[in-house]
Amino acid sequence: MAEKNSKKPTVQKNNTSISNTVRGIVFAFVLFCFGMFLITNMNLGNVQKTEVPISEVIQRANDPEGNIAKITVTGQNLDITLKGKDQPTETSRKDGSGTLYDQGLVDYCEKLEGDELKKCKDTYPVIEYKEEVDAWGIVLDVALTVLPIIALVIFFSWMMHQATAANNQSMSFGKSRAKLYGPDKKKVTFKDVAGNESAKQDLTEIVDFLKNPKKYEKLGAKIPRGVLLAGDPGTGKTLMARAVAGEADVPFFSISGSEFAEMFVGVGASRVRDLFSKAKKNAPSIIFIDEIDAVAHKRDARGGAGREDEQTLNQILVEMDGFDNDSGVIVMAATNRVDMLDKALLRPGRFDRHVNVTLPERKDRLEILKVHFKGKPVEADVDLEALAKKTAGSSGADLANIANEAAITAAREGHKAISNADVTEAFERVAIGPERKSKVMNDKERKITAYHEAGHAVVGHVLPDSDPVHKVTIIPRGSTGGVTWFLPPEDRSYKSIYELKDILARAMGGRVAEKIIFGADSVTTGASSDLKNVASLAKSMIIEEGMGDSLRNIVFPGEDTGYYTITTGKPYSEKTSELIDAEIKKLSDEAAKRAEEVLKANRGVLDKLAEELLAHETLEEAELEPILKSAKLPSIAKLH
Ligand code: ADP
Ligand code: MG
Ligand code: ZN
Repeated sequence: MAEKNSKKPTVQKNNTSISNTVRGIVFAFVLFCFGMFLITNMNLGNVQKTEVPISEVIQRANDPEGNIAKITVTGQNLDITLKGKDQPTETSRKDGSGTLYDQGLVDYCEKLEGDELKKCKDTYPVIEYKEEVDAWGIVLDVALTVLPIIALVIFFSWMMHQATAANNQSMSFGKSRAKLYGPDKKKVTFKDVAGNESAKQDLTEIVDFLKNPKKYEKLGAKIPRGVLLAGDPGTGKTLMARAVAGEADVPFFSISGSEFAEMFVGVGASRVRDLFSKAKKNAPSIIFIDEIDAVAHKRDARGGAGREDEQTLNQILVEMDGFDNDSGVIVMAATNRVDMLDKALLRPGRFDRHVNVTLPERKDRLEILKVHFKGKPVEADVDLEALAKKTAGSSGADLANIANEAAITAAREGHKAISNADVTEAFERVAIGPERKSKVMNDKERKITAYHEAGHAVVGHVLPDSDPVHKVTIIPRGSTGGVTWFLPPEDRSYKSIYELKDILARAMGGRVAEKIIFGADSVTTGASSDLKNVASLAKSMIIEEGMGDSLRNIVFPGEDTGYYTITTGKPYSEKTSELIDAEIKKLSDEAAKRAEEVLKANRGVLDKLAEELLAHETLEEAELEPILKSAKLPSIAKLH
């Protein structure tokens, strides 16, 4: 939010570039008008000449005593210059019958040269034939003259803009592009960061270091140099770093790891040098390197870091080591992937303080939602508590996005304030995609979808370790034909193998229901994303959680950790690889079997639910409850 309000210098530069282009166009237009004025003026000169009949012109031209010095013929026009004058003062027009020669205008001086021509000119007029110039010719001439000028003007204004921008940007390659959020920018404080109390607690200490360094120095305490904010994307790491700067009221130099890699070799390192020297000059201050994993990934991981990144990383290490204890500069960095960072960064004296920024719990989600709905008009029926409950696993950024989508939805619907329906629509839109009411399904497709979703719902409802069914709909949304929503588990840190197996079974419920009702041969593509989810959950249960029957309690490090078996290119042998595949298949077969048992035992409930869905399209918790309550768990589907 705050980020959107703060005016970044780059935005202002863009404005300059636009106004420069406008200025260029205006300048070119003025030039164009000036050119047109000149041409019109020349034509005005013609108008002032006196018109003489052609017969008279011919007669005077052929008279040795006549006063005509020169006749310029342009198409139908004759311009006549009198002896002793240097501008034409008379004009005439051909009358159209034959050439001027036919009519008796003789060019006596034609083909004469030197003295003879001079003598002839004193007696008879010279006759000059000029190529015809039409109006379009003039326009074309002007265009050819003016267009390059316009192009030049635009080019120069662009260059000017570049030069302005270059003062602290692209042309000064080695200079860091760190943005400075000085005191004039809109401040972010801890108030803007909801939840995450423990991270804020840790950072409050940092703020205190920056505000009262003496207090710590007196007691011989070492001021921390590097603070690493680690956490999932969108959890508010960048926001927190800015809040620290806002709270401490010190200059904040921020740069993103990916920016280092943008330009030429060696630039990254010199940018780091520049960044640190700027920060030292402005001490006490904060350097914030966002997404530091972009430059500081493990140097020994497969493929290795690029040479350029390595130089940049080394320079960061050198600068941090070179800090005096009282430099007053604190380096903060943020990353989504601590496991990917080069260990050298995490040693004492470098980023030795770790602050974990976690996904918000329900209470925190409510706080974040309140922050983002603050200042937006909302109806009394808006239930943020329910939204907080539904959004387990969402990050702060996701919640901010829902709040924004809700406002957009309300505006689109022409509401004066955001209603709960707008909020629900925004939540579902963010989770899955926009509703596609316009997508026409024929009766057969609707029926298949109804049974598919009913299958998910019945299986999910019956299995003891699955979350409750919250809502079922057969209105297409995003790329799905329908959706069954389960209320996510209440922020538990661990999931049991029973829960995971129930998730697999309920995911299979859709496809299995289709099979039971429409026969084994009528499988549709509607279940492909369910099957993908089953495959990836089953794989991680086997590889990462050690939940396979024959691979219990053994895990295989993730593919990006750098541990590889040479023969397979994977962190396990060929034999193990086959075992893993077999275990994954076993899990999904078991899931399909359990789903089938549940649905066969509850055929009546399945039919009823599908029927209600076809009639009402969407069923909420309260409407689902009476239908589902008679469903029973057959003992064959029990796990424990
Ligand atoms: P990260 O850097 O961890 O990827 P950001 O700090 O960029 O995440 O967060 C993105 C946006 O999400 C923020 O600008 C803010 O609007 C919202 N947000 C994230 N966490 C919070 C929070 N704890 N309180 C309020 N807003 C948050
Ligand atoms: Mg960030
Ligand atoms: Zn499905």
